[in-house]
Amino acid sequence: MDYYYVNTNAQSNGDHEVHKESCQYLPTSVNRKYLGYYSNCADAVENAKETYPKSNGCYYCCYACHTS
Ligand SMILES: [Zn+2]
Repeated sequence: MDYYYVNTNAQSNGDHEVHKESCQYLPTSVNRKYLGYYSNCADAVENAKETYPKSNGCYYCCYACHTS
């Protein structure tokens, strides 16, 4: 289980990246939105999509959910 966050700022391709709390690329507190405590990144991304339809897992910490 991990705490997940979504970057409130979009990447250059429009994606909002979802990160685990432990990720070295976790955005600073003002640039992230808390999603919840999940056992897998898919549930976290699903939650993030309610706010940001173009949400995507981080390449580094959520590779299984990284699609673009
Ligand atoms: Zn990450």
